[in-house]
Amino acid sequence: MQNPFENAMKQLDSVSKIAKIKSLNGGLIAQLRAPNHDIKISIPVKMDDGSTKVFEGYRVQYNNVLGPYKGGIRYHPKTEINDVKALAFWMTIKCAVANIPMGGGKGGITVDPKNLSKSELEKLSRGWVRGLSDVLGPYKDVPAPDVNTTAEIMAWMVDEFGKITKNKNTNEVKAAFTGKPIDKGGSEGRDGATGLGGFYVFDALREELKLPKKCKVVIQGFGNVGGNAARIFAEQGHTVIAVSDSHGAIFNESGLDIKKVEAHKKKTGGLKDFSKENLQTKNITNEELLALSCDLLVPAAFENVITDTNAHKIRAKAILELANGPITPKADEILFKNNIPVIPDVLANSGGVTVSYFEWEQNLKNEHWTEQKVFEKLRLVMEDASRKTLEKAEESKTSLRMGAFILALERIRGKM
Ligand code: NAD
Repeated sequence: MQNPFENAMKQLDSVSKIAKIKSLNGGLIAQLRAPNHDIKISIPVKMDDGSTKVFEGYRVQYNNVLGPYKGGIRYHPKTEINDVKALAFWMTIKCAVANIPMGGGKGGITVDPKNLSKSELEKLSRGWVRGLSDVLGPYKDVPAPDVNTTAEIMAWMVDEFGKITKNKNTNEVKAAFTGKPIDKGGSEGRDGATGLGGFYVFDALREELKLPKKCKVVIQGFGNVGGNAARIFAEQGHTVIAVSDSHGAIFNESGLDIKKVEAHKKKTGGLKDFSKENLQTKNITNEELLALSCDLLVPAAFENVITDTNAHKIRAKAILELANGPITPKADEILFKNNIPVIPDVLANSGGVTVSYFEWEQNLKNEHWTEQKVFEKLRLVMEDASRKTLEKAEESKTSLRMGAFILALERIRGKM
C-alpha cells in the first residue's frame, strides 16, 4: 500500500531540485516537510443500541502562511493520519496555485458512514467539532466537505460550533465552515465547483496540450466531482465514453447519455445494471477503464489509482487529475516519459476550494452572490492559475505538476 504522504514528500523533493526553487529556498522546503499541527482526537458516540463506540478523528493544520487553514473533512473506513497529512499538504499548494488567501488543512474520521444511522452520523459530526472547537474558526481553520461528507453535515457542524463558542456574530459562525446548504449560508455553485473548475482548467490548456476541440473523455468516479465533471463535459459537447464507481465501469464507444446515467444512479444508488437497460453500453472493470483509448482521462475517485504497474497501459492523450493524488510519483515519471501530459490535482481540482473561499468571503461580508457571478469569478481564477502554471512549467522545462509547485512555493516564500 502506497503512503500518500511519502508520495507528497517525493513531489516536494523533486521540486526542491529545480533551479528556481533552489535559489529561493531559505528554509521553505524544510518548513513544508511537516505540518504545523497534526491533531488526533477520540470521539465517543452513543449508538442507537445504547452502546458507546469511540471513533478516531483528525485535523491536520499544515501551513497558514497565506491565510487560515482550509480543507475538507473525509469520512472513510481507510482514512488514517498519513492520508490526511498528504491532503493537507496538497491543500497548501492548491490554495497558493489558485492565489487565494488561505492555508492548507484537512480532516477526517475513520468510519464507514454507511454503517451509521442518521442520528449516529450527526452525533459523530458534532463530536468532531466539540473535540476541535478551540482550533477552528473563520480566522483560524475553515473545514469543508470531502469524500462522504455533505452540506447537511456542514450544517450540523456550524450549529455545534455556534453553540460551543457562543459567538453572537452569526456571519463569523457561518464563515467557520464552507460547503453549507444554501439556506444556511452556502454559496451558489459550490456543489459542482470542483468539476466546473476542472473543466475551466482543461479548456484553458486544451490547445496547448494539442487536444481536439471535441474530446473523447473517460472519467473514473461518479460522485460529486466525477459526476459533475461528466455532466459538464457532456453539456460542452465532449463525448464521455466511460464512467465508473466503486462497483465497476460502464463504456459506450459512441458516448454515454450522462443524464440517463445520473437518473439511473439516483434511482438505484450506483452504475451497476445500467447496461442491462442500455444494451449498447458494456460493463468493464475499473482497470480496463483506465486503459481505454481516449483524448482525456479524468481520475475523480481516490489516491494511488495510477501506479508504476498500470501507468504504461494508459492510452489517453492527456490526464486531468480531479481526485487528489491519483498518480504515484513513479507513475508520473512513466507518463512524462511517454509524453502524456498530466494536469495536476493542485491546479485541476482547485475550483472546489476557490468557491469555498468565495463562500467564506460572502459570509463575512453578509452577501449572497448569484451563481453567474460565482462562475465568472471562478473562471477567471482558474484561467489565471492555468496560464501561470504553464508559464512556470515552460520556463523550467518541466511538467505541469512541477510548474504548479514552483508557482505555489514562490507565492508562499513571498509571504514568509
Ligand atoms: P464522492 O464520495 O462523492 O465520490 C467518489 C466516487 O468514487 C464515487 O462514485 C465512488 O463510487 C467512486 N469510487 C470509489 N472507489 C472507486 C474505485 N476503486 N474505482 C472507481 N471509482 C471509485 O467523493 P468526491 O467528493 O467526488 O471526491 C472524489 C475525489 O475528488 C477525492 O480524491 C477528493 O479528495 C477529490 N476532491 C473533491 C473535492 C470536492 O469538492 N468534493 C474537491 C477537490 C478534490
